[in-house]
Amino acid sequence: GVGHLTLVDGDAVDASNLHRQVIHTEQAARARTNKAASAAASCRALNSTVEVTTIESYLDAASAAALADAHDVVVDCSDNAATRYLLSDACAAGLDHERTPLVSAAAVGTDGQLSVYSASADSPCYRCVHPRAPARAACQSCSDAGVLGPLVGAMGALQALEAVKLCAGIGRSLAGRLVLLDGLDLSIMTVKLRKRSEDCAACGSSPSITRASIQAYDYEGFAGPAHDRGGAPVDAACALGADERISAREFHEDLLGGGGSDGVPVLDVRSAEQFAMASVPGSISIPFEQLAGRCDEAAALVAQSPSPGGRLVVVCRRGNDSQRAVRLLRAAGVAGAVDVRGGLAAYADEVPAAGFPSY
Ligand SMILES: [Zn+2]
Repeated sequence: GVGHLTLVDGDAVDASNLHRQVIHTEQAARARTNKAASAAASCRALNSTVEVTTIESYLDAASAAALADAHDVVVDCSDNAATRYLLSDACAAGLDHERTPLVSAAAVGTDGQLSVYSASADSPCYRCVHPRAPARAACQSCSDAGVLGPLVGAMGALQALEAVKLCAGIGRSLAGRLVLLDGLDLSIMTVKLRKRSEDCAACGSSPSITRASIQAYDYEGFAGPAHDRGGAPVDAACALGADERISAREFHEDLLGGGGSDGVPVLDVRSAEQFAMASVPGSISIPFEQLAGRCDEAAALVAQSPSPGGRLVVVCRRGNDSQRAVRLLRAAGVAGAVDVRGGLAAYADEVPAAGFPSY
């Protein structure tokens, strides 16, 4: 196992955490014990020889980089974007450009995500993959969106697996890949992430975020609050932001302006059967289930028919799978991917002149 653990948390255990944060106890919740202290006690109860250091305050920008340097692996178990960026930057801006591998997981609702950042010379950091913070209004956290308790345990165990592999130097880490776990049908997709970005503000060739500047960087201004006044976490995994979506009307204008099939490329992620029933002229079909393995084809669509901003419009029936598809495509480097709010159903409803059938 791991010989030395450092646990960082400024929050206190609450009864509402217990269904998903299985390291804590009812007794710790009653006593409002600090979470780092409570987790350390559980570790020692499991194994009296493990060394555990606790830092009973929230991770702060002043000490994050030094903390990352002092450890072989960093595990991000936070649930807000500000802390995710701070941790990633701290790992990416290591002493003498020596990056610290970051094992990152998230779980909201019934979906989980897992990846390893900054682990090899060409693997991306979190900021390479998400150069812009998600829109705050679109963000949901476990505390306001809810999460299926066992899903958090499953993602945590997978995260521990990646951490142990990195410490032991065995197997193939998830560096450069993202695992998406759908808890409802227990399907797992692995998506190839873009490579480390030359332009990345944290780990590119001329980074603007350095060890010296991390302390002054406004993480909450960039990514939203890390904690609300009561100390509860605020956000985590996100649906799409407003600038990543267009209306059915804008979609129609894109098609007219671009001359249909010769203009803005359109990717349809519905099933092949639905695509055969009715589709937008010139659109290309890649069913959502296959998209993870076919992101390269989507990127090629953009390269073949250049549109302003490298736009690629993704449609599905009602605008749900298309959001997940855009998330996936953007992670794979298709930065201009947007989806149509309400999908083809909204297109049929809101733009009757287009004559797209309701079905
Ligand atoms: Zn980077």
